[in-house]
Amino acid sequence: MRPKLIQPANCHAVPTVACVNHATVPLGVDFDRLIAALQKFADTCFSPAWGTPVKLVPAARIPSGAWGLVFLDESDKAGFYGYHDLTPDGLPLGKVFVKTILAAKEKVSVTACHELCEMLVDPSANLCAAGPDGVFYAYESADPVEEDEFLVDGIAMSNFVHPAWFESFRKPKSAQFDHLGLLTRPFQLRRGGYMPVFQHGRWTQLYGSTPKAKRHAKQDRTGRRCAKRQARAAGQPARHSEVWAGNELPQDNIMTKSTKKKPAPKAAAKPTSNKKPNKPTKPVLGGGHAFGGVRNG
Ligand SMILES: [Zn+2]
Repeated sequence: MRPKLIQPANCHAVPTVACVNHATVPLGVDFDRLIAALQKFADTCFSPAWGTPVKLVPAARIPSGAWGLVFLDESDKAGFYGYHDLTPDGLPLGKVFVKTILAAKEKVSVTACHELCEMLVDPSANLCAAGPDGVFYAYESADPVEEDEFLVDGIAMSNFVHPAWFESFRKPKSAQFDHLGLLTRPFQLRRGGYMPVFQHGRWTQLYGSTPKAKRHAKQDRTGRRCAKRQARAAGQPARHSEVWAGNELPQDNIMTKSTKKKPAPKAAAKPTSNKKPNKPTKPVLGGGHAFGGVRNG
């Protein structure tokens, strides 16, 4: 196992993530089976790569001291499948918007897995890696490969990149760069992937393909993770969501980071999504639509 490079927020203990289902519609997968599959994913796929153990527990509410992964009906951000947040006491809180996901014929399990990955690697959503050409890449472990899926006990999980993806000294094909082995070099994006980057004094995004950039352009990016980073860069205080201690989760005034939208998914029995060969392609720089005064991430 790789030594721990990135540690959970409470680095002296394995974090407990309370999984709370407040959706009023079926998830498309049994909730307890989903949590069990996520735990198996964490234990056998993610933690061996990143050194970030976690304990997932189904719960009616988030107990004090626990992180949260909450399933809600709809996103308060148009087009978002889910995003993660930090409560004012600094504990990671991921949200999965079930109706939004199902309406787009996507899988709740993949979004939940995506949020879990990124919460574990960068719980404060503030880590970056220096990449080529003076560009800083956010430590987003699922974004570069977010449209690739695979099954754990019959339930679709998200592909994710390995630590080597962020290491510029790695030569092509010299290491494992993502779980499914679809990428061959550091900082490479799948056609359906993207990455928040900091360059020329501001946050923007790189996309694996023009179609991916267009899909993102249709989303309301306000309030996403890059907004938090941008606020920091500008010396402004970052907003936080309300503390959630009961049965209601405030839906506004939230700092985020998210999982985006994907096109037509498939059964996910094997690495599917981007079926095109994994030839190196030049990332597409996000356009001004999303990167103006309104922040996105
Ligand atoms: Zn993400």
